[in-house]
Order: sequence, then structure tokens, then C-alpha cells
Amino acid sequence: MGRHALLSASSSRRWLNCTPSARLEQQFPADEGSIYAEEGTAAHALAEHKLKRLLKKRSRRPVSDYDCDEMEDCTDEYVSFAMEQIEKAKQSCKDPVILIEQHLDFSRYVPEGFGTGDLVIVADVTLFIIDLKYGKGIAVEAEENPQMMLYALGALELFDAIYDIERVSLAIHQPRLESVSTWEITVAGLRKWAEEYLIPRAALANKGQGEFVSGSWCRFCKVRNQCRVRAERASWNWRKWNFASRLCYPMKKLQRY
Ligand code: SF4
Repeated sequence: MGRHALLSASSSRRWLNCTPSARLEQQFPADEGSIYAEEGTAAHALAEHKLKRLLKKRSRRPVSDYDCDEMEDCTDEYVSFAMEQIEKAKQSCKDPVILIEQHLDFSRYVPEGFGTGDLVIVADVTLFIIDLKYGKGIAVEAEENPQMMLYALGALELFDAIYDIERVSLAIHQPRLESVSTWEITVAGLRKWAEEYLIPRAALANKGQGEFVSGSWCRFCKVRNQCRVRAERASWNWRKWNFASRLCYPMKKLQRY
């Protein structure tokens, strides 16, 4: 099993918003994994294989218990989107660097921070970071997505000195939701975010300091069932909803007359 970072890119929205959560989670047993995670891994392996074959790289087709028509179609869609992005990169750079399942180290900003980019295309002017999400729960937006911004910082660590990169294009493809979300940020804007927001928040998170803040990021937190702050928010939301529905019911009744 791979090394797991305390401040991982995939959980960054949580530890950036609720900085003590990462250290607190360490006191809870490690996840045993789920069929959804296994299915996602299988889809990524198949997509990687298909993309490599199209790019005339050696690859052996992976086999998994999750192989099915849906996975076949979804990975085809992702690969077709990935190829479109590669063609786009070629418009500004004859010979872009194409990296699949690339290890990206952003530890300059986040202690021991690293992750894996599904597809990184390095061209003059624009760096492309593309992520396949196989889940079908919630559509994930690329705009100000910290996971993608961390990957971009990791890719800039490798290539900024060699290529004349001015902006970063982030794309999340979620074929099961028919969702493609893209967003662009300048390299200067990304570095500003890293200096002014990411570095101080990551330092707090690494020390387990800061304030507990609940929100949609609590959904996959290991602490969620014991967390007082989350419980208080849920209770407040319930009181608000209850109050609003009590107010609305007589109003609706009145409107009938
Ligand atoms: S459940 Fe609690 S500790 Fe976890 S992210 Fe939410 S507020 Fe933070």
C-alpha cells in the first residue's frame, strides 16, 4: 500500500477549512477502504492503459472485478476528453510533455505534501492538469479546487524552470455524472494563493492548531460522528429549518384564502 500523507491533496478542502481535523483524524483507525475506492482505482488503471495505448506507449490492459460496460464507456469518454486537451496544448507548443499518473511533490508548501496527477500536460504558456473522478455522488468543480491547485503547484516545481508557463488550466472530468468542469488561473495568482493562504493554513494543520469549522467537507471526516462542532451546526440547521417550516405552513394556509 502506498504512503499516505497527513495533509493529502484529496483531503485538502477539509484540512484547509478545519485545520485541526487532520491531526485529530490520526487518533482514529485507518480506513479499510471501500468498494467505491476499489472501483475508482480500477477505472483509473483502465483509463491509464487506454491513454497510453493511444499515445503509443507500452501498456498491458488491467483486469479487475469491476470491469463492466459502464466502466468501458466512461474511460473511453475520459480518454477522448484527455486527447482533446493534448491537442489544445499542441496549438501553443509543438511537442508538449505528457505525463500520466505523475507523482507530484508540493512539499515546499505543505509539509510532506505529495499526490498523483492523472494527466499533466506541460506546454509553453499553459500547464494542463486533468483529473478523472469516477464517483457519481456529487459533481466536483474545478474552480478554486485546492486538490487541483496543489497538483498544479507540484507540476510547477518540476517544469516551471524549463518551460515558459504563464497560466494553469485545471479540468475535472466526471463521466458518470456527465460533468466536465474547467478553470484557469495564472501562475502568479496560484503562487499568491499558496503564499497567502495555503502555507499558513498547512502550517496550522500540521500542528493540529486552529479552529474547528464544520461544512460540507465534514462528510468524509473520520471524526464526524464524534465531532461537537459538526453536531452543533447540524442542530442549528435543524432549528432553522424547523422555524422556517413552522412559519411557512400558516403562511401557505393563509395564501389559500
Ligand atoms: S467533522 Fe469536525 S473535525 Fe471533522 S472537518 Fe468537520 S468540524 Fe472538522
